[in-house]
Amino acid sequence: MVKAILAQVKKRNPGEPEFHQAVEEVLESIAPVLDKYPEYKATKIAERIVEPERQIIFRVPWMDDKGQIHVQRGMRIEFNSAIGPYKGGLRFHPSVYPGIIKFLGFEQIFKNALTGLAMGGGKGGSDFDPKGKSDNEVMRFCQSFMGELARHIGPNTDVPAGDIGVGGREIGFMYGMYRKIRNEFTGVLTGKGLDWGGSLVRTEATGYGLVYFLLEMLKDAGKNIKGATVVSSGSGNVSIYAMQKCQQLGAKVIACSDSNGYIVDMNGINVKTVQQLKEVERKRIKEYIKHHPDAKYHEGCNGIWNVKCDIALPNATQNEIDEKSAQKLVDNGCYAVAEGANMPSTPEAVKIFLKNKVSFGPAKAANAGGVATSGLEMAQNSQRLSWTFEETDKHLEKIMKNIYASAKKASEEYGKPGNLVVGANIAGFEKVARAMYAQGLI
Ligand code: NDP
Repeated sequence: MVKAILAQVKKRNPGEPEFHQAVEEVLESIAPVLDKYPEYKATKIAERIVEPERQIIFRVPWMDDKGQIHVQRGMRIEFNSAIGPYKGGLRFHPSVYPGIIKFLGFEQIFKNALTGLAMGGGKGGSDFDPKGKSDNEVMRFCQSFMGELARHIGPNTDVPAGDIGVGGREIGFMYGMYRKIRNEFTGVLTGKGLDWGGSLVRTEATGYGLVYFLLEMLKDAGKNIKGATVVSSGSGNVSIYAMQKCQQLGAKVIACSDSNGYIVDMNGINVKTVQQLKEVERKRIKEYIKHHPDAKYHEGCNGIWNVKCDIALPNATQNEIDEKSAQKLVDNGCYAVAEGANMPSTPEAVKIFLKNKVSFGPAKAANAGGVATSGLEMAQNSQRLSWTFEETDKHLEKIMKNIYASAKKASEEYGKPGNLVVGANIAGFEKVARAMYAQGLI
């Protein structure tokens, strides 16, 4: 049955390997749930859940600073709203096409369910590349993008957020345009500035949440983060705050990267320098060695997995750890991998981690802290209140502990103790499946 559903997904969505990969992993995990609940099979819950409720693809024309016109493609995949409004980020990166957005939107359904908050799954983005563009160019693009997206989203319908290439600057430009078009001030985007409806901790949330999840993994593995060496790929939003939290807890972070290469600093990565280079100056990670001459820069980003470490945090992009890199990590004694990026390990890499008893935290559970805090931002917007940093951080920590506990419980209930991939897929699926079943054939 699972094979037939996957075959249909491949036929309907040809040339979209990332989407096929994400669907295959979930279908394999949930097969025993479908056996346990014949009513889910009878009502074709699995066949329905792999088909987005709505897919919107649109033209985004914009003008650069020289007066040249460019035409980009924008999209929003509204995947599943059985448990709440569609929720998920927008990605601006040249590699964006429907297969990437569908894989991310599909994963988002289960991730959002795991948070325990009322959020459905969706994702969107564009093949626009903000890198190397002026602020004015980015603004013109964002305004054009929102000119179309505004008619499809709303605080009770679909609430986008950031992802790769979409940070506070882009959210600001898009929010301004939404407000102008709709003439309303609502919580329609999350990741907003603190003066206009944003939540404290949202910036740090995915990275901090990842480390809270990692702490639970380490506790069960009988290990301690204090004194452990950590490698964190990427140097964007997720990586920066994961590194910061690891250091606060006494770990030594020795390497991070961008899409051009990676740096190794055996004195411990100076996160403030990375923040200055990446968040403020928007420069390449290579520049780090100008500030810290003891550090080494290596061209090419994948080599980062050859750096010997206790804990690996893939925080850059999908499929960045392949079989070879996974084996290298294992051979070098790495005992824990927690995924901050979405689907950063290939299926072959995951198999190697599980086979070698590496404690493995899959993305849809381990990186759910970002969307969870977006959910908290929506709650604060509805109440027109702002919570303190400490209060929001405590909520985040509690949510991450709960996600770990429910993934662990599901893995044990279904006879796969320690396999959080299966556990997270099942725990997320069960919640959405119950809601879809209760709501009838729609
Ligand atoms: P950012 O745009 O802030 O940073 C992305 C980082 O990854 C950059 O350092 C970038 O380098 C690097 N990167 C991007 N593409 C590649 C590539 N093909 N190869 C190697 N490195 C690459 O994004 P985020 O930190 O927000 O997102 C990182 C990951 O985390 C993504 O998978 C995202 O989906 C996931 N995620 C993000 C959440 C969030 O709240 N932001 C929530 C949950 C998941 P460069 O600057 O050279 O492009």
